[in-house]
Amino acid sequence: KERQRLDRVLAHMGFGTRKMIKKLIKEKRVQVNGRPAEDPGLHVIPGRDYIEVNGEPLVYEEYIYLMLNKPQGVLSATEDRYAKVVVDLLPPRYRAFHPFPVGRLDKDAEGLLLLTNDGELAHRLLSPKKHVSKMYYAVVDGIVTETDVEAFRQGIILNDGYRTMPGELTILRSGTESEVELTIYEGKYHQVKRMFEAVSKRVLYLKRIAMGPLRLDELLRPGEYRELTEEEIIKLR
Ligand code: URA
Repeated sequence: KERQRLDRVLAHMGFGTRKMIKKLIKEKRVQVNGRPAEDPGLHVIPGRDYIEVNGEPLVYEEYIYLMLNKPQGVLSATEDRYAKVVVDLLPPRYRAFHPFPVGRLDKDAEGLLLLTNDGELAHRLLSPKKHVSKMYYAVVDGIVTETDVEAFRQGIILNDGYRTMPGELTILRSGTESEVELTIYEGKYHQVKRMFEAVSKRVLYLKRIAMGPLRLDELLRPGEYRELTEEEIIKLR
């Protein structure tokens, strides 16, 4: 176990921004080994030092949050007998935390995939009741028109009879191959592809660019990943 700053440990466990944590400490609401902590920069060993916040013992769980630009050809899973899976892209020091993908992207899709071991956060982001937004960039075979935009706004009836919630379709370029952005608030199986199929168009390329408040870092090439910043983690919670 490594020594870490107290404020960092508390930030990782969701007690808010560094500023909020500084305030907690100033108000003597954080105890370390039975004494009020004086300094946010105090070094502690999580799991060894006994920490209490507001009189509650801190049960230390180290969470990890990674954003991956999923490349094509890799499965959104933690293991598969045959195919390469997204956690195979991570080095052992990250795999040791047992992260899993929050939601799925198709094997042939690219883009933003959050990997974490924070089950509660994952559950909230995936809950159908929360309607977390998902934004995609797509290249579509065929001319996307304002009629399609309107149909998506009304909700699309998929091939199994399900009527989707309204989706926001933006045409970036219309031609024999069109470029679009689509935001949806649910996540049915192959939803984007099936929404276009319902208007007789085929998705040729699909990339997720945002999920809720989280945007894909444009510096990440397919297959690259980075840890979320503290601000990104706070926004997601
Ligand atoms: N919709 C799809 O069709 N595929 C994905 O991977 C995500 C959304």
